[in-house]
Amino acid sequence: MKQTDRNCAGCDTKLTFFTKPNFGGGKLNDGGRVCRKCFAKIAKYDVGFGMNSKRKYDTEKILNILNRKITKVAKKTTGVTSNFSANQIQNRGIQVLESINIIDNTKNSDTIKSRFEFLNKLYPDFINASTDKRYISDIQIAVDEYKSRYYDKILNDYELELLVKPSSEKMSSFYAESLMKCFDRFLNEQYEQIENLKRQNAIEKRFEKIIDVADEISSELTFHGSSSMRFEEYIGEIEKIREEIYNKRYKNVG
Ligand SMILES: [Zn+2]
Repeated sequence: MKQTDRNCAGCDTKLTFFTKPNFGGGKLNDGGRVCRKCFAKIAKYDVGFGMNSKRKYDTEKILNILNRKITKVAKKTTGVTSNFSANQIQNRGIQVLESINIIDNTKNSDTIKSRFEFLNKLYPDFINASTDKRYISDIQIAVDEYKSRYYDKILNDYELELLVKPSSEKMSSFYAESLMKCFDRFLNEQYEQIENLKRQNAIEKRFEKIIDVADEISSELTFHGSSSMRFEEYIGEIEKIREEIYNKRYKNVG
């Protein structure tokens, strides 16, 4: 097991002065050790990892946490492979595409939130699996299956890109754009309907609803869309609309 000491137990990166965690951290109870990057990933899962790694963690546990498993023997291969099977990539790939499409097209803030929550649980596995050589061909099967099931739905390049080259920044930007489109569609619908409302009370109720949704979209954007280049601009836009509606509702302006 001495060999394991020279490479990271999680990702097989050679452990050097630059890749080792600081202050002798990341040692495991079976003689293994993890690199800085894996250390950071595991510390996200257990903040006490730095303190407890040598007492509570061995290589197998580390690999489970990192969602990987040891390949049979082969010494000089990468030593690790994705735990995420081809079948799962294909089936869940379709679910990912379905969710992306709904997020991109809905005008309902509850729908966009719940779909993103669902997608956000699946997505990290795709980011991890995408380093595997086989990934693209598995994804291609999912894409083909999606296209034959939903031949009437157009799959945009940027939607496809989220699956073909998954990254959390890309997802965050996509979600930010989608939240704005969702809010825009919702607003247009509300404005149209408000025009036809007669009772002041009913109109006020609609204004209140818009304010609630503006707050919801704004908080989603803050939590999950801040990687977008247009994040500040979007927050500003929502804030402006919210203020306008707030004044109409409570200050009888406009
Ligand atoms: Zn590592």
